[in-house]
Amino acid sequence: MTTVVRPLDAALDLAREVTPELAELADPIDRGTEAPVKAYALIRESGLLSAMIPRERGGLGLDFGDYTVLLAELGAANGAIALGFNMHNVAIGSLFETDGDALGATGVAFRDWVVDEVVDHQRMFASAASEPSTGARLRGISTAYRRDGDDYVLDGHKSFVSLSNVADHYVVTARPADTDTDYEVSHFVVSAGDPGVSFSPEWRGTALSGTSTAQMFLDGTRIPSRRLFLGVEGMSLFKVVREPHWMAAGYLGAYLGLATAVVDFATERLSADERRRSRDTDVQGLGSMVVRLQAARALTLNAARAVADHRSDPSTNALVYAAKHHLGEAAQALAAQSVALVGSAAMAADGPMQRLLREVQFCSIMPAKPADCLDYVGRAQLGANMFDVSNHGW
Ligand SMILES: Cc1cc2nc3c(=O)[nH]c(=O)nc-3n(C[C@H](O)[C@H](O)[C@H](O)COP(=O)(O)OP(=O)(O)OC[C@H]3O[C@@H](n4cnc5c(N)ncnc54)[C@H](O)[C@@H]3O)c2cc1C
Repeated sequence: MTTVVRPLDAALDLAREVTPELAELADPIDRGTEAPVKAYALIRESGLLSAMIPRERGGLGLDFGDYTVLLAELGAANGAIALGFNMHNVAIGSLFETDGDALGATGVAFRDWVVDEVVDHQRMFASAASEPSTGARLRGISTAYRRDGDDYVLDGHKSFVSLSNVADHYVVTARPADTDTDYEVSHFVVSAGDPGVSFSPEWRGTALSGTSTAQMFLDGTRIPSRRLFLGVEGMSLFKVVREPHWMAAGYLGAYLGLATAVVDFATERLSADERRRSRDTDVQGLGSMVVRLQAARALTLNAARAVADHRSDPSTNALVYAAKHHLGEAAQALAAQSVALVGSAAMAADGPMQRLLREVQFCSIMPAKPADCLDYVGRAQLGANMFDVSNHGW
């Protein structure tokens, strides 16, 4: 009898081969004594880069629900690296969400090229959307492209690009240079070595240096027309409105992993302290953290499963935004609870909790922001047409 290994189990097995080392690297990378590239080398070697490529094309064949579970596993070990890895999947995760018959020859050729790059050459992709004056919004971006013969030429400035100097290819958003419309946004693949591509020194924030984030500059960057994402021009904004899961919630698993690490930390500290383990208030404090984590996990995985089973359904999208909002609040509340429960040991500079406390704050900064999530959920509840671009902050 042959046993069929579920895609998620195969992916979790691969992840667990690297999570112990990723966990060991989390604090040194945060302190700047180890380079993030070491952790991404583990990710590359693990085979996880092909998580979202179908099995029949040589990938692991995960759907969005499975992917969120995988990312939570990585995020519990090393949140920053999970967030960086997520940008690879934000860049290419939607490739097989489009029906092959609807793609046309150019789209199919583009997809084949990406599969070859990822599966056969372990090349890493990243997503370069955010800009200084618009944040993660697609409307109003300044990065512009123009057609020149068989090429596109791009000029622009991206404010935050994770996997800078790590990824091989960057999926960049741009609008046509010759029109005033801010609805026609397209995605292009720009490679690290393309002419006119440069990066600033890495962003120095209070956390997540493991994402290896920097500004990206495109100065007359010329790319062949076959690097237009899936061969489709002008549809990026409409796509994110109908299918917001990658941009709004791709990294949910990473924050779920961070929230889990917070609860694990408090559990370990209480377990190791005989006196506190038997004190009712401490036990109940930990119980309250577990309840909060379970609720966040249930909503997050429910939303991720809904994407896999009913992608683009209005109720799925409302669930995605609700999960994004709830998880951000829950992760931050759990971190505060952990500090209150564990006490000064939680803030020791050489322990992980002070890092986790800083890292979970970023869930409010990454799109969709809390107010945008509530706006979406409220409008959807009132019956607005959420496929209408004008109802969106994107
Ligand atoms: C560690 C880290 C890694 C990141 N990695 C990536 C990445 O790989 N790829 C990527 O694309 N992004 C990335 N980002 C960017 C992130 O997704 C957000 O875009 C960014 O953090 C938003 O920054 P902000 O809160 O300062 O800006 P915002 O508050 O979003 O504001 C930015 C600008 O947009 C304007 N603005 C905001 N909302 C509106 C509105 N409704 N109407 C009109 N104007 C508006 C503001 O006035 C402001 O000028 C990363 C961020 C961090 C911190």
